[in-house]
Amino acid sequence: MLIYDIGGLIASPQGTIDSFDVEELITLPEQDDPLLTEPIRFQLEFIKLRDEVTAHVSNLAASCEMRCNRCLITFTAPVVVSTAERQFWIHLPEGNHAEIDTSYQIDRKHGRIDLNQMIREEILLHFPPIPLCSESCKGLCDQCGTDLNKSSCACAKPEVTKESPFAGLKSQVI
Ligand SMILES: [Zn+2]
Ligand SMILES: [Zn+2]
Repeated sequence: MLIYDIGGLIASPQGTIDSFDVEELITLPEQDDPLLTEPIRFQLEFIKLRDEVTAHVSNLAASCEMRCNRCLITFTAPVVVSTAERQFWIHLPEGNHAEIDTSYQIDRKHGRIDLNQMIREEILLHFPPIPLCSESCKGLCDQCGTDLNKSSCACAKPEVTKESPFAGLKSQVI
């Protein structure tokens, strides 16, 4: 959902604020979007300005399903957005719209703001670029596929892995 009735706010004087504590289970729309396993939570303020309404989101916490980049297990981890803001136009400004983002507009017919696009953008923006189940995850053997967190295998390992911070040092010492 994440659709808010702001009909009353639009009719209010500049500077009026509407606040909400949001807790809602949502599904992100695209196939590759992360699965949210619990309701997302955030504080929301709508601030009425002259031609626009500012949506100010803070302390957003989402619980997202991720796949470890090394061992490929699926795990759940928090994605946190401390603050985010978008301007939603009440009336598009006169003249040239090339320089402004017109993708955020208020549904004036119904007096509503739809926050779905904003919240999806913020979750994706704050999603870890390389998810890891743990910093110390050993990953899978690149030869036999054994999960090296659970057991070891007999495959010959290169003596020094690429990830070792001592890789350069060792070759210098020898
Ligand atoms: Zn892992
Ligand atoms: Zn192996």
